[in-house]
Amino acid sequence: MKLETIAIHAGTKITDSHKPAVQPITLATTFEHHEESLIYARAANPNRNALENVLAKLEHGEVAAAFSSGNAAGMSVFQALSPGDHIIAPDDMYHGLRNQLTGIFQGILTVDFVDMTQSENVSKAIKKETALIWIETPSNPLLKISNIKEICEIAQRNSIKVVCDNTFATPVFQNPLLLGADIVMHSTTKYLGGHSDIMGGALIGKSDDMFWEKIRNVQISGGAIPSPFDCYMLTRSIKTLPYRMKGHAEHAGIIATFLQNHADVEKVYYPGLKDHQGHATATSQMSGFGGMLSFLVKGGAEKADLVISKLKYFTNATSLGGVESLIERRAASEGPDTKTPQNLIRVSVGLEHLDDLLEDLDQALK
Ligand SMILES: *Cc1c(COP(=O)(O)O)cnc(C)c1O
Repeated sequence: MKLETIAIHAGTKITDSHKPAVQPITLATTFEHHEESLIYARAANPNRNALENVLAKLEHGEVAAAFSSGNAAGMSVFQALSPGDHIIAPDDMYHGLRNQLTGIFQGILTVDFVDMTQSENVSKAIKKETALIWIETPSNPLLKISNIKEICEIAQRNSIKVVCDNTFATPVFQNPLLLGADIVMHSTTKYLGGHSDIMGGALIGKSDDMFWEKIRNVQISGGAIPSPFDCYMLTRSIKTLPYRMKGHAEHAGIIATFLQNHADVEKVYYPGLKDHQGHATATSQMSGFGGMLSFLVKGGAEKADLVISKLKYFTNATSLGGVESLIERRAASEGPDTKTPQNLIRVSVGLEHLDDLLEDLDQALK
């Protein structure tokens, strides 16, 4: 099956004798005991099984686990480690997961944050306690690119697990498991949900090994599971994911070039641009460059806020990946200790008509 076909058909496994064309929502928390029955909805539910099936197939994994948020998915990986384990993570890791490592897991796990755009920085940070390398590429909000294959080869030589946060790229444009990663993580709140109305997260494993068993145990015993309704919504959204991503990437590529040529813009960060520092690596591991871009406005934070306030079609809001365009001055969302430049604007390019988006940006920048 090809990607578009998987997206539509792998989330359906109907057991109902009426043969509905889509997976019905099963709200039951418990199931009558018989040989093949599901037992209790925290452990498994038909909608979650359907969702996990399509997620595993899209990422070329053997197994998948769905969670109630991206942060819950990430946290489940950290909870599956042992006290004293060391993690190597990117210096611009998604701030919510970074805060877990420096906050909740302080004194339990140790972590070094390194610039992963140079794979040798990962080699240098390895200790005998290193149990996990966390990759996020393209990164948030600078769209930095790490070389997944190179880092996975370093990890394999040292028997270290690799998890890759694939939220920005989506399985449509990048499949880390095929490049050597052990587990892929998604905030399904973003592109997989695609309509800014579902919170969710997922882990997809290359194989059903001992580490995966621990993760499954954290999912079931920890209980940070998505509801049957959210699983249904997500399975429904995923059906259009391949076509939505084509639109997002096409629009983002054109808007990136437009901004790069604009007199009031200092710099544009988009991996599809030839002068982006990670363009060559991105080209080697991605089949499209995604729908996220950032840019620096000439004139500082105040000018950036003014531009955002003048936009009609870009909503000033955090998050990303929906059909509607979103924009924000990222440093304002990340708080006082952020390293993100104060004049950086992050854009989640939506699926409105491209001419409307370009015209809107042009009038706001004037
Ligand atoms: C949003 C996001 C997360 C966290 O996901 P939630 O669903 O908000 O908990 C993790 N990583 C990346 C790259 C994200 O964009």
